[in-house]
Amino acid sequence: MAEPGVIKKLDETVVNRIAAGEVIQRPANALKELLENSLDAKSSNIKVTLKGGGLKLLQIQDDGTGIRKEDLDIVCERFTTSKLREFEDLNSINTFGFRGEALASISHIAHLTITTKTALQPCAYIVSYEDGKPKGLPKPCAGNQGTIISVEDLFYNVATRRKAFKSASEEHSRVADVVGRYAIHNPKVGFALKKHEANTSDIKTNPNSTHVDNIRAVYGNSVARELLEVEGSDDSLKYKMHGLISNVNYSAKKSIFILFINDRLVDSTALRKTIENVYSLYLPKGSHPFVYISLALDPRNVDVNVHPTKHEVHFLHEDIIIDKTQKSIESKLLGANTSRVFYKQC
Ligand code: ADP
Ligand code: MG
Repeated sequence: MAEPGVIKKLDETVVNRIAAGEVIQRPANALKELLENSLDAKSSNIKVTLKGGGLKLLQIQDDGTGIRKEDLDIVCERFTTSKLREFEDLNSINTFGFRGEALASISHIAHLTITTKTALQPCAYIVSYEDGKPKGLPKPCAGNQGTIISVEDLFYNVATRRKAFKSASEEHSRVADVVGRYAIHNPKVGFALKKHEANTSDIKTNPNSTHVDNIRAVYGNSVARELLEVEGSDDSLKYKMHGLISNVNYSAKKSIFILFINDRLVDSTALRKTIENVYSLYLPKGSHPFVYISLALDPRNVDVNVHPTKHEVHFLHEDIIIDKTQKSIESKLLGANTSRVFYKQC
């Protein structure tokens, strides 16, 4: 007869490793968290370096506020954060992330090293972490103001996950996609992405650019020269929309849909489908638009109860908001379309 299994409590490090593997699933979502940290730190230049698609090395260097030497001890523990505003309103979209869990999670499944310097400190400090804890005291070193986060050997201790990655170039292009999208949404900040030891960048944008400049830098002039600007707002809903969308002259084999809600890169299948339907009336079959939309919504109306790795987002008054966005896009496309016909007739 089979004996019942003996129930034992899992070791805390094992629990943390499993939890971390659930929130960080691949280099691209680790990078998204790190990018948001650099933006939160008011950086004006962010450089990303990858080796092996980010699986061997994922490094992000910024020129933001830096991290205080006193905080380096606890910065990689779970639920440690300097973002007090996140606790003032738990319904705010800012809590959509990991609430002080990003660095902690990464330190459980990779070799994490932080080099950082604040404006007031005379030198930089470097610390490596394992399982949320520093491996030693901060060591003084040379460095500019800001922070370098190096993530090496992602999933070195999670063999099944590591083996699931088929190609480094696939991971590289997923990371590039995230960097390009954040660059488009944050034109005041300069972004760069390159392969380790490569001389040229895969992505390069300058600080104080425009959304259009950065769409050109990332997706090329064939998109950038065919853009229409859309806008909309509704005070009672606290809804504001700004977007750059391709006109009816532009068509691509694959649609590009970039959606930011309250400055976070998300996806909304409902909104995406609605917009694609509008375009299907204007574009030849099998061709697709480029759409960049930034929505500002009342943070209390955005559902934060979505798992952090799922980009899909839901919000209150979704139907009305999607409808409003659709109408703005429709009238813009229609306007642009009739003016084209009009030109032809003259
Ligand atoms: P959260 O962003 O939710 O606070 P994280 O684990 O992502 O949690 O980061 C923990 C803390 O580490 C942040 O609150 C911030 O104080 C600090 N931090 C992380 N990355 C940076 C950075 N690039 N520049 C300055 N501070 C940072
Ligand atoms: Mg964070």
